[in-house]
Amino acid sequence: MRIHLFPSTFISRAGLPHMGSIVGGCSEGLKRYGTLSQLSWGSALKALKSALKGGVEKHVFKPSGRYVYVVRGPTGPHLVMGDLACSCLDYYLNVVIRGKRKLCYHIAAAIISEEEGTFRVIEHRDPEFIGVIKGVISAEGLGPDP
Ligand SMILES: [Zn+2]
Repeated sequence: MRIHLFPSTFISRAGLPHMGSIVGGCSEGLKRYGTLSQLSWGSALKALKSALKGGVEKHVFKPSGRYVYVVRGPTGPHLVMGDLACSCLDYYLNVVIRGKRKLCYHIAAAIISEEEGTFRVIEHRDPEFIGVIKGVISAEGLGPDP
């Protein structure tokens, strides 16, 4: 008895380019796993849920093309600057102060939503940049005292 891993028609019709895309898909999966593996199970699930259920906004400023992500979750909106920094307390405590890991779940959500194309784009003019940043920080309760 022969065991076929793939139906022969799949191989003959698909050929190498299709197999290449399968390999590509695996490497993307590993990249995503690498991102999520730095987090606890609970945080990884929150990142996936946020990324795949519309919790990530990409605010793009024109004409410069500069952008920030706003990740909305149960603790309010948080500002993610690329894959470098987040405005949340977890990032400050566990990444900046304790050096326990390199990201929080908001950054992971932004990375995954970018890979999957699940973020929502909101466009602004460049002069609105400071106002948008202040608005998010104020909504987090991190703004200066009145
Ligand atoms: Zn964060």
